[in-house]
Amino acid sequence: MKSFSYAKVATAEEAAGLLKQRNTRLIAGGTDLLGLMKERLIEPDRLVDVNGIAQLRGITATKENFRVGALTTLAELAAHQATPLIIKEALADAATPQLRNMATVGGNLVQRNRCWYFRSAEHRCWLKGGPRCLAVDGDNRYHAIYGEGECRQVTPSDLAPALIALDATVVMRTDEGEDSLPLAQLYVAPTARHRREHAVGDDDLILAVRIGGDALRRHATYLKFMERATWQFAVVSVAASARLVEGRAQDVRIVAGAVANIPWRVKAAEDLLAGEKIDDARALAVAERFVRDARPLRDNAYKVAVLRELVRRAVLRLKD
Ligand SMILES: Cc1cc2nc3c(=O)[nH]c(=O)nc-3n(C[C@H](O)[C@H](O)[C@H](O)COP(=O)(O)OP(=O)(O)OC[C@H]3O[C@@H](n4cnc5c(N)ncnc54)[C@H](O)[C@@H]3O)c2cc1C
Ligand code: SF4
Repeated sequence: MKSFSYAKVATAEEAAGLLKQRNTRLIAGGTDLLGLMKERLIEPDRLVDVNGIAQLRGITATKENFRVGALTTLAELAAHQATPLIIKEALADAATPQLRNMATVGGNLVQRNRCWYFRSAEHRCWLKGGPRCLAVDGDNRYHAIYGEGECRQVTPSDLAPALIALDATVVMRTDEGEDSLPLAQLYVAPTARHRREHAVGDDDLILAVRIGGDALRRHATYLKFMERATWQFAVVSVAASARLVEGRAQDVRIVAGAVANIPWRVKAAEDLLAGEKIDDARALAVAERFVRDARPLRDNAYKVAVLRELVRRAVLRLKD
C-alpha cells in the first residue's frame, strides 16, 4: 500500500475543509476503502477519518421519522428495535458479523462494485479508464441483466434497494451546503465523463438517511439470493413495499439489487400491482412483467429466472 497521511476530525466542517484537498479520501469503517487501497486501485495521499463526528452517529425514531446517522454500523442498525423489518431482513445476510460491526451505513451506500475485473489491479477495464469493458466478452456470470451502458457491473449493497423501497432520502453535505435528496438519485449509471457508480463526490459527506412515516407504515420485505449461505454479496436481491388499503396494494415499490448498474425498478410492473388484490396470479404477472425487458449477457441468463421468482415471492409476502 502507498503511504498516506491521516487526520481524524471531530466536526463535519473540519471534514469538509480537509476533503477539498487533492487526492484525499474519507474513511469510515474502512471495510471497502482499505481493500481498494491494498489492491492499489486507489492511492490517496490523505485519509480523513470521520469516526469522531458525533453528529453522524445514532438513530432517532418516531412514528413519523426514522433517521440513521451515516456512521451507524450495520450491526447497530440491525439491532435497533425501531428499525423497519425490511431493513433487518436486508442486513441479516449482509457480509459477516465482524464486518457488520465495522461497516457503516454511509460506506455501504457508496461502496464500489464487486466486478472481478474492476477489483483486480491487473485489469484496466473501462470503468478504471481503460478502453473497454472486459466483462462483456469475459466471465460475466454475476453481471448486469439490465441497462446498455459500457459497464455491466451491478450494485452490491443490500441496504440500498431496501431503503429505496421505503422512499428513503439521504442528507448530504456538499460544496453547495446541506441538502436532502431521494436516495435513488445517488445512483447513476457510469458515463464516459463520470466513470463512477454513484453521484457522491470524493469531497461530499453523507450525514444521514431518513425514512418518512408513510413509508414506515407500509408492508415491506427483502429477499436475497446468494450462491452460498454465508457472507456473500447478492447474486440477485429484491426489496418490495406497498400500502394495503382494504386488501388492495397502493404505493407499490419493487427494487431489484445486483441486476443493473443502479438499484432497478420497473414502473410497469409496479403499476400492474397498484390498486389490485395480491394473489398468486397477480404476483406471477408482476414478476413476468418485471423481467420482460431484461437483456442478459452470455453467462447470466439464470439471473432472469432467479429475479422472476424473487419478485413473485416478495409480492406475495406483502400480503402478510
Ligand atoms: C468480505 C465482504 C463481504 C461483504 N458483503 C456484503 C454484503 O453481503 N452486502 C452488502 O451490502 N455489503 C457487503 N459488503 C460491503 C460492506 O458492507 C461495505 O464494505 C461497508 O458497508 C462499507 O462501509 P465502511 O464504513 O467500511 O466504508 P469505508 O470502507 O470506510 O468507505 C467506503 C466508501 O464510502 C465512502 N464513505 C464512507 N462513509 C461516507 C460518508 N459518511 N459520506 C460519504 N462517503 C462515505 C468512503 O470515502 C469510501 O469511498 C461486504 C464487504 C466485504 C469486505
Ligand atoms: S463491468 Fe464495469 S467494472 Fe466490470 S470490467 Fe466492465 S467496465 Fe469494468
